[in-house]
Amino acid sequence: QIYTKEDIIRIAHEEGVRYIRLQFTDLLGTLKNVEIPLHQLEKALDNELLFDGSSIEGYVRVQESDMYLHPDLNTWLIFPWSTQENKVARLICDVCMPNGTTFAGDPRGILKRVLKKANTMGFSSLKVRIEPEFFLLKLDKNNQPTTQPNDEGGYFDMAPIDLGENCRREIALILQAMGIEIETSHHEAAPGQHEIDLKFADAVETADNLMTFKLVVKTISRHYGLHATFMPKPFFGMEGSGMHFHHALFSGHQNVFYNEKNPLNLSEIACYYASGILAHARAITAVTNPLVNSYKRLVPGYEAPVYAAWSSKISSHLIRVSVAQEFNTSIEVRSPDPSCNPYLAIAVMLMAGLDGIENKAKLPLPINKNIHGITEEELLRLEVLQLPLNLEEALEALDEDEIIQAALGEHAYTNYVKAKSMEWDLYRKIVHQWELKQYLYSF
Ligand code: GLU
Ligand code: MG
Ligand code: MG
Repeated sequence: QIYTKEDIIRIAHEEGVRYIRLQFTDLLGTLKNVEIPLHQLEKALDNELLFDGSSIEGYVRVQESDMYLHPDLNTWLIFPWSTQENKVARLICDVCMPNGTTFAGDPRGILKRVLKKANTMGFSSLKVRIEPEFFLLKLDKNNQPTTQPNDEGGYFDMAPIDLGENCRREIALILQAMGIEIETSHHEAAPGQHEIDLKFADAVETADNLMTFKLVVKTISRHYGLHATFMPKPFFGMEGSGMHFHHALFSGHQNVFYNEKNPLNLSEIACYYASGILAHARAITAVTNPLVNSYKRLVPGYEAPVYAAWSSKISSHLIRVSVAQEFNTSIEVRSPDPSCNPYLAIAVMLMAGLDGIENKAKLPLPINKNIHGITEEELLRLEVLQLPLNLEEALEALDEDEIIQAALGEHAYTNYVKAKSMEWDLYRKIVHQWELKQYLYSF
């Protein structure tokens, strides 16, 4: 525990904080908040702040609409960009029922529940490192986002080609000032595309950090006259934006994924964990790749995975293992994209990994070649599943996977699938630009 209730009240007064944002994330991964003036802070810290949950989409049934926000004291933070006259702080909250239990539709609560399962299996924590990618786009005269990337840069380019350099550096500096540790940052392969990698942190903290990260990236890029998008595949024919997750289970200070006797430095537990993720990959995708657009990224040729295979040599499969020293030994899952709800994404991947451990699931052989163009019989022989081709297929896979459903829990599962099915249905019915171009004259 970094802060006590008394610390926070004292700091808020000393620093002249005027408003506090009580933040939480909805099922679809959108950051929400209730803002309170300073004089309400004590009440909020006593877990007495009531809000009407029925107004939050996908959150509750009408009859159970009264909910409480329980601030996590360790998430106290003053936004570095707020001015002295309007100093704003935030606290990330758990969403609770009037009787004090966690609300079943709170993604943060869902992740904590799956982490408890890991605890009962003897793992004290799951450390996660994420590699979010995003595009910086130009704004038009009315400050609306265009589809024009802000530069022509490519992989690891520097200024003057990399015009996002200053913006990206400021984002990294602000994140550091907010206590979010950055591993590295660079220009990514596509024009206007960037990546900032966060350091390993506990699972809940990493998910909290991603929500903060997106807010910072969006806020700061506006200061530079740019629009940041985490849309997975904004442009056909260019790389999409992924968000790789590195996982490592710890027992105390010991990384239990590490075993120096194995040529890849991987322990048996790490191999079971990876097998679990491969086995449940299709259902997991419904959560880690939540948009209709997510599936336009999961195509051959752009470093995004298409098959549930693993390798330490080829970096375009679902799982990549890089031989690393003890603390950094991890299983890297490469399918997720930055539009996913990070709490739910970690929850379903962890559940799959734990299932692999419980069943001592045997890891299939690594596939150290490019799979694209391989026949279906060959895939079957190699025990390789293909990731869903679209959101509908992913939802069907989730419908068939009770383990992954259990990770979400009944309430979240039902509401999530309902929202996503509506999204798919609308997309299916709408006549798209491509169809008009393709068919209007020829038929
Ligand atoms: N942009 C790629 C993707 O869609 C990832 C590139 C990388 O390996 O960093 O996943
Ligand atoms: Mg990258
Ligand atoms: Mg990576």
